[in-house]
Amino acid sequence: MSRPSRSATPQPRADMALLEHYVKMILAAPVYDLAICTPLQAAPALSQRLGNQILLKREDLQPTFSFKIRGAYNRLAQLGPEQKRRGVITASAGNHAQGVALAARELGIKATIVMPASTPELKVLGVRSRDAEAILHGESFPFALAHALSLAQSSGSTFVSPFDDPHVIAGQGTVAMEILRQQQGALDAIFVPVGGGGLIAGIAAYVKYLRPEIRIVGVESEHSNCLQQALAAGERVVLPAVGTFADGVAVAQIGEYGFQICRHHVDQVISVSNDQLCAAIKDIYDDTRSITEPSGALAVAGIKEYVAQSAVSGQTLVAIDSGANINFDSLRHVAERAALSN
Ligand SMILES: *Cc1c(COP(=O)(O)O)cnc(C)c1O
Repeated sequence: MSRPSRSATPQPRADMALLEHYVKMILAAPVYDLAICTPLQAAPALSQRLGNQILLKREDLQPTFSFKIRGAYNRLAQLGPEQKRRGVITASAGNHAQGVALAARELGIKATIVMPASTPELKVLGVRSRDAEAILHGESFPFALAHALSLAQSSGSTFVSPFDDPHVIAGQGTVAMEILRQQQGALDAIFVPVGGGGLIAGIAAYVKYLRPEIRIVGVESEHSNCLQQALAAGERVVLPAVGTFADGVAVAQIGEYGFQICRHHVDQVISVSNDQLCAAIKDIYDDTRSITEPSGALAVAGIKEYVAQSAVSGQTLVAIDSGANINFDSLRHVAERAALSN
């Protein structure tokens, strides 16, 4: 389930150079053309219940209701004029798609997005309403990805990975830059939801370069724990099957660029069940009156599991509240399951 802390281990120079490279890209990322600096908000009821100070980084408040706009905009902003003219194509379970669609519209670039057939309707509408072309293809992300890659090859447009790209990682890393500015006092650990690993890689690179004592804890769905399995195997493995309840993180293989960072700079990875996610959606609602999507509640579910496992108290723990794109109809299921878990 978890690995011992690596944060005290001095890192070799080449590795620090890699982190420094990302820190520079993060500081230079022009994400605020579209993204906002989101609040880092206290969760008083949860804090009291868990005996630790819990802070929520409210990425569900971004213009597309998830942090993905950061990486997508940073990637598209780096394209040359010819690449911009040919357009971009991507595959996404939904939130990256909306980020790319909004970023492309802002920059005047044509965008085509391949989404798995299981994608919630409001994520599909979120793409179409931003003038991008949405193609529904495949039963889960890997199938959509393969289709998008072949379309990119035949059309000459640029493929924009949702996570496996240094500019995407750097864009997501701006979340960490904000957290370190917003929380200048005690900060013991940051809990980060993990799908393909772009978000956690950007956060880990920034935080471990500047504040290596802060723990970086990845949180995965137990139905798509590709980082946990890759760390255990010492290499990127492909999961034979992936559950899609937490559709924002339903990824079968951790990204190559992200894994380069995560294998040395992520202190621990926790996995949680779907019922734990439903309970965490309720916890977030109770403290904020906001509703998150299942992936968006991963970090809070991870904090609860972490506190239960390690019995820490009096610590300051940050959860990335990563997204809010949930179909209204699924709330009935979430509420039912939340009633059975805590
Ligand atoms: C994409 C996404 C994640 C995971 O980000 P990765 O960079 O793929 O690890 C987590 N939560 C939400 C809401 C997302 O959309």
